Amino acid sequence: MMEKLILPSSSVPVLADVDICVAGGSCTGVFAAVTAARRGARVAIVEPQNRFGGTAVASLVCYWHSLFTLDGSRQIIAGLTQEVIDRLARREAVELATDNNPSWYARLNTEELAIDLDELVKETGVLPFLHTRAVDVLRDGDGRLNGVVTAGKGGLGAIRAKFLVDATGDGDLCAAAGVRMWHNAELQPPTACARLSSWPQFKRPLGELVHEAAEKFHLPEGHIWGTFLPHSSSFLLAGTKIPGLDLSKPAALTGAEIEGRRQLRAIQDLIAEAGYTRPVLEALPSLIGIRETRHIHSHYRLKTDDLLSGRRFPDTAARGTYRVDIHSQERAGTRFLYLDGREEFHSPDRPPETGYWRDPALPAPEYYEIPLRSLIPAGFDNLIAAGRMIDAEAGAFGAARVMVNLNQTGEAAGAAAFRALDENGPIGSWREEGERGETTK
Ligand SMILES: Cc1cc2nc3c(=O)[nH]c(=O)nc-3n(C[C@H](O)[C@H](O)[C@H](O)COP(=O)(O)OP(=O)(O)OC[C@H]3O[C@@H](n4cnc5c(N)ncnc54)[C@H](O)[C@@H]3O)c2cc1C
Repeated sequence: MMEKLILPSSSVPVLADVDICVAGGSCTGVFAAVTAARRGARVAIVEPQNRFGGTAVASLVCYWHSLFTLDGSRQIIAGLTQEVIDRLARREAVELATDNNPSWYARLNTEELAIDLDELVKETGVLPFLHTRAVDVLRDGDGRLNGVVTAGKGGLGAIRAKFLVDATGDGDLCAAAGVRMWHNAELQPPTACARLSSWPQFKRPLGELVHEAAEKFHLPEGHIWGTFLPHSSSFLLAGTKIPGLDLSKPAALTGAEIEGRRQLRAIQDLIAEAGYTRPVLEALPSLIGIRETRHIHSHYRLKTDDLLSGRRFPDTAARGTYRVDIHSQERAGTRFLYLDGREEFHSPDRPPETGYWRDPALPAPEYYEIPLRSLIPAGFDNLIAAGRMIDAEAGAFGAARVMVNLNQTGEAAGAAAFRALDENGPIGSWREEGERGETTK
């Protein structure tokens, strides 16, 4: 148990008085804020980094997945995800796959993405607070949430708000509000990505080199992937892995950031030792890529079977087709379960093992759905979560966690918060009908 001190009570400045305060500024949070602002709400957003974009921008992750049904014939995800792709396309800052590829659809220049998110925030009149973290909630005399305590350049501050959207990834706002949080038994591991130039033409897969040198360089093994960025000779490498840590804990986060950078250097070193030119390190992430920490207790925990069977919900918040994708720790590698029944295991050093998790002759769903009720913390009516903290068991989370899905949870959360504001009621009208935001064409 950590020792605790009581700070003397002090007054804090009210930085803003708004209808909706969004904590966390990845696309998830920005899309929540923009959706609510476009409908007429006064919205503030707080983000600890110097720019919006979360894992895509701060952690350098550059792929968005398919916006189409499983067979690629019909678009099922549009809204702000499509709008941002269109904005990036105007500056040649995105490349699109044309082959219904399960591994990627849009390859983004994530630096350009950060500027598009700035522009979206400015155009819609959302009040931005960068270099600012949500550290607690405010309550009125009846104990009802009515704002966010922030820590930023000027010290502590307060943003008064009628509705709160938690898009912090780790569910920091929900935890501070007293939402019951839980963990999957095995957390998907974090990865420090990097951008490198002078990337060699390898004669055999990099995974094999890492596998052979893993013991010498103390590298935990896992699935390694990478890609050249659009119209660029910079290579994005996702090759590190720090298993067994919950990065919602400050000491684990600090340790993982330093260990991630050590592993990146080790990979450069082992490439040079294998006789290739040493890749030039061009950019480190300003935040380690975090796959999973804690989840909220909501009105409904999304089941793996819901996704794989394409279960329909009356309160759909998001649709998707991305496969179940679990970075396994027990056996180094990544397991994929596809909606059409296929199963693959990708090891660091061997060709993929393929099979079926169910009879492939059975019909496959066109897509799966994520319900709004999995975003609403049980026992709260003016707080909603969007992003990777949503209530989903391990397999369901393994599919739901990709950005094209979580972007939609942001839009749905913004729309649900606006609707509650407009009706002067609770978030939770999902009981009556769906709340999909503007996510489909
Ligand atoms: C290495 C790696 C590779 C991946 N590859 C892909 C991929 O190719 N394609 C894909 O779609 N998905 C991929 N994923 C998964 C996907 O990137 C994440 O699941 C997704 O981006 C999470 O989005 P989020 O909005 O929930 O959280 P995050 O992106 O983590 O955003 C949370 C935001 O909240 C901010 N924040 C944190 N705490 C606070 C606080 N207290 N107050 C205010 N703000 C706060 C953070 O700074 C951040 O901006 C990958 C993940 C990792 C780690």
